[in-house]
Amino acid sequence: MSGIRPTGYLHLGNYFGAMRNYVRMQDEYPCFFMVADLHSLTTHPDTRALSESVRRVLAENIACGLDPEKVALYCQSHVPETTELYLYFNMLAYKGELEKTTTFKDKARLQPDNINVGLLTYPVLQAADILLHRAHLVPVGKDQEQHLEMSRNFAQRFNHRYGEVFPEPQAFNYGQELVKVPSLDGAGKMSKSENQNATLYLADDDETIRKKLMKAKTDAGPTEPNQPKPDYIDNLFSLMRLVSSSEVVAEFEEAYTGCTIRYGDMKKQLAEDMVRFISPIRERAAAIHQDDAYLKKVMQIGAEKARESASKTMVQVRAAMGLNYY
Ligand code: AMP
Repeated sequence: MSGIRPTGYLHLGNYFGAMRNYVRMQDEYPCFFMVADLHSLTTHPDTRALSESVRRVLAENIACGLDPEKVALYCQSHVPETTELYLYFNMLAYKGELEKTTTFKDKARLQPDNINVGLLTYPVLQAADILLHRAHLVPVGKDQEQHLEMSRNFAQRFNHRYGEVFPEPQAFNYGQELVKVPSLDGAGKMSKSENQNATLYLADDDETIRKKLMKAKTDAGPTEPNQPKPDYIDNLFSLMRLVSSSEVVAEFEEAYTGCTIRYGDMKKQLAEDMVRFISPIRERAAAIHQDDAYLKKVMQIGAEKARESASKTMVQVRAAMGLNYY
């Protein structure tokens, strides 16, 4: 189970950290993937653009390879059971631990005039999203590690107080570790709404992709053989491993090790390979986005699947809590 907020265009961080795993998981597990529209209200309370954003995120997920027939692809607000479980988990969450959450502190700093309680209880709602399907594996980027730990805590507290209902969900990635795709300027991570010039979006046109990559941060190059790579150079190699052939990656790795690398050439090559990677996704997403009837059907079918799973969990939750009075 996992989710993406409809707060802007999806980017390579979403792809690397989350969607690439979704697409592989759909052939191996029963999966639930949602557009987290309720979460987006904590930072984007204006709902005028929301419906458009929800449809775009759905289209982009499908364009990346997610098959709505194989998984439950749904919109968070279409599953009201979520908010009931969220309420129960709120009684198991403590103000102090929520205030210490890194994402809460970051977001509170970014919007000092709107430190709403939803922002504080974001990890509680997220735990409800995940545990509503009693999910074991949660494909997410590294930024979500702390939230997953909190989900495990809430699951443990519930099980301890009311009886065993929930598994302890783990953050998941097919690689060795969770991924953080840094922004191209080397400061922070790629993001939907910050750092837009240093983030590669799946909707970027070819020229924009080339321009952003040519401006990516580099330096004068390694001065000694086998020198460790700085983060921003490592990131260019990571992006290259995603979109370029293994021969091309090996060629630049060798040039780096031997101190003969020319970052201008590397960025040009990367830009062309990135254009080849992103442009078909962009075109597919644009076509799907226009098909209102199809997206409506995807949402309806997704909501049905998600609610079926959610209602089964909630029957167990209410029974465990002794809330079934008749
Ligand atoms: P969000 O964009 O915050 O709604 O996150 C959606 C998913 O993308 C979550 O699983 C995040 O962990 C992941 N994600 C977002 N930004 C990045 C990034 N720069 N690197 C890796 N994963 C990311």
